[in-house]
Amino acid sequence: MTFKNKKVAIVGTGLVGSSTAFSLITQGVCDDILMLDINEEKAKGEVMDLNHCIEYLNKNTRVKTGNYEECADVDIVVITAGAPPIKGQSRLDTLELSAKIVKSIVDPIMKSGFKGQFIVVSNPVDAIAHYVKELSGLPKSKVIGTGTSLDSARLKNFIGSLLNVDPRSVQAYSMGEHGDSQMVPWSHVYIGGKSFSKVIEDNKDRFGDVDLDKLVLETARAGWEVFNRKGTTYYGIATAIVAIIKAILYNENKIIPVSAYLEGEYGQFGIYAGVPAVLNSNGIKEIVEIDMSEEEINKFNKSCTVIKECIAKLEK
Ligand code: NAD
Repeated sequence: MTFKNKKVAIVGTGLVGSSTAFSLITQGVCDDILMLDINEEKAKGEVMDLNHCIEYLNKNTRVKTGNYEECADVDIVVITAGAPPIKGQSRLDTLELSAKIVKSIVDPIMKSGFKGQFIVVSNPVDAIAHYVKELSGLPKSKVIGTGTSLDSARLKNFIGSLLNVDPRSVQAYSMGEHGDSQMVPWSHVYIGGKSFSKVIEDNKDRFGDVDLDKLVLETARAGWEVFNRKGTTYYGIATAIVAIIKAILYNENKIIPVSAYLEGEYGQFGIYAGVPAVLNSNGIKEIVEIDMSEEEINKFNKSCTVIKECIAKLEK
């Protein structure tokens, strides 16, 4: 009997890439990790540091540096190479540089004969996922952007704190752009099976003054709150990336809000946007289309317009 090793390559071994590798080895998710970076010494240093963890972990994950030719038999390539925004810049401002970086990565990976799946993290993630799909020629199911996976986790965290319940007992999605225009379909927020609006209505004395618009704004701005204090963010996104990797490598059929290519879903065509999707060994198995109110769908469409404008800039 032969066993196939589960292999993940991480391109970009900066804060997000190295945190992802650390989270992968501490959770024992895969057998091999290939770490690649234009700064080869940085990649080597991260590999050494990660290897020094193995003695005290449950699994001997093989972590090494490599080159793009070695991506041929990798299951998943995570792209975290990029230029994080500097103070005063938005994620959208990093488009041009991120696109250039991503092109220099995807072309050689595809030349290697890579047949796996891309998880795109580099910002602006929805437009960059779109670009990776174009560059790679891979089917839409195999190019996944992290999209609003992190924003949804942040939203659940805010709601959990507000109601004093475990965020994991909150069912909620942030959707649309991973950016300022993202929206929350409040009609689909549930707390242990009870609709959020009913929880508020039944507990007016405690939660009567909840401001939904403020919660959406706080969710969209949460990354900047972290950024303003520590200069960047990485643990949250690394954990979201690992959840997506696990869903794929273990054929979980888990529903995670990710940036997925829409072809008619939610009335949108030919763009990547944050929507709940069923993830398994095929990547995006299907998109979950929730019934949004007219107001919600208008907000979602508005957010998609921001993504479209970004993609249009890319295509110029
Ligand atoms: P970082 O600067 O710490 O790391 C980026 C790494 O990319 C560096 O090590 C750099 O050497 C490498 N790199 C640059 N050009 C390269 C190339 N052509 N080939 C290979 N490697 C290259 O940045 P970070 O904080 O890790 O962030 C990385 C990206 O992730 C940014 O685009 C950032 O905006 C994005 N990000 C996305 C989310 C999300 O939710 N999608 C969250 C946080 C960060």
